[in-house]
Amino acid sequence: MSVDDTYISQTLMPKTLPPAGPATKSATKTARKKTTKTTKVTKAVPSAPAVLPEMDSGFTDLGLMPQLLDAVRDAGYTTPTPIQQQAIPLALMGRDLIGLAQTGTGKTAGFTLPIIQRLLEGSHGDAPASAHRVRALILTPTRELCIQVEESFRKYGKHTELRVLPVFGGVPVEPQTKQLRKGIDVVVATPGRLLDHMERQNVVFDDLEVLVLDEADRMLDMGFAPQLNRIVAEVPRFRQTLLFSATMPPEVEALARKYLRKPIVVQVGRRSSAASTVTHAVYPVPRDRKTELLAELLKEKGMDSVLIFSRTKHGADKVVRHLEGKGISATAMHADKSQAERMRALEDFKQGKVRVLVATDIAQRGLDVSGISHVINYDVPQQPEDYVHRIGRTGRAAASGDAFTFMAPDEIAMVRSIERIIGEAIPRISVPGYDFGSKEGEGNETEVRSAPVTMNRGRRR
Ligand code: AMP
Repeated sequence: MSVDDTYISQTLMPKTLPPAGPATKSATKTARKKTTKTTKVTKAVPSAPAVLPEMDSGFTDLGLMPQLLDAVRDAGYTTPTPIQQQAIPLALMGRDLIGLAQTGTGKTAGFTLPIIQRLLEGSHGDAPASAHRVRALILTPTRELCIQVEESFRKYGKHTELRVLPVFGGVPVEPQTKQLRKGIDVVVATPGRLLDHMERQNVVFDDLEVLVLDEADRMLDMGFAPQLNRIVAEVPRFRQTLLFSATMPPEVEALARKYLRKPIVVQVGRRSSAASTVTHAVYPVPRDRKTELLAELLKEKGMDSVLIFSRTKHGADKVVRHLEGKGISATAMHADKSQAERMRALEDFKQGKVRVLVATDIAQRGLDVSGISHVINYDVPQQPEDYVHRIGRTGRAAASGDAFTFMAPDEIAMVRSIERIIGEAIPRISVPGYDFGSKEGEGNETEVRSAPVTMNRGRRR
């Protein structure tokens, strides 16, 4: 199966919905493993959850249906994250929500679970979705996030018959058209390609019940405001709207005022705060010595799975070449790579076949790679908010990680803007022989509060 086929249509694993009543643990462990499109779970057999961690009442009290709790249990989650605790009950009540939460907080399950429940509660038995009719639409800024959200629907909806389709550009239109015309319950889409389909009348939103704007700040940053306006103009006024954003600049507030009705704001942590489990540090280093410093750092213990952000495609390729020259396995992910190449790079990284993934901004949101040990900003992010999103890659729900930023002399001002946004000073790590140190002229006002990496040869200040 080609990569395109794989990501064009993902029909959720079918299962007859149990009638309302006590929780039926519906699928055996074996059945859980069979996630092919054709697998039917027809018998309700008691599950053997002994191998799975016990779920606490935090989840069972949220008001979720048994089959969703089963899926959550299968995912191995025991306790809802704060955003899930707040958002799920409100979303189940049908309220409009503004979720101020970044990637890594569990926000995707926070909206996916209540949406699935809403669609199941309102569905008519096993009747297929009528052609062209979509009941939930999730708009995402990037194809990577689009795929991640779609996977989330598949994961939590595995005991249901809901059909979900990811719709993004850079792949042929026809397979998506075919699927849309067959009938899809949930569309997860990037705005540009979705508008193409809307213009071709491949999809109609007359029956839409729920609209989600995921990473709204990022969508606006990417210039999607006109597309969002055109899309929202075509969906029913009476709907539930959920907006998620890591930051709340005035533009996002204006968007929320326009699209949401009496929204409740749920917020995790401080606004724009970096994921709290992440330890960050800045390495002052001249621009032309960044690759050398990188190779040095990668010799450290624990640098097992490292995601590197480069500002340019050319820079990303250069870093990969340099690392490979030193015998370090690395791969690049940027807009010049085909979708298939990008998916392969991500898979190789996820599976640990390569240690280092060097990505440009395309990968910065929606890249759900668990177990990243470090994020390195090879270049200082141009937008301070991007810093928060990038380091969200390591501060996963429960994991911890380190985020390092290489700062050339001409990037000092940008680091300062980041510090203003996150509301704290980032410790500097000085590596003798690399630090332009006294020449940077920014003083020693930042102090090290934690030990971001064992840099024996390094002097921390
Ligand atoms: P998100 O913020 O939606 O990108 O989710 C971040 C990561 O946390 C994903 O890998 C999820 O699978 C994981 N996750 C979501 N909810 C929970 C939970 N309640 N317990 C543990 N991990 C979770």
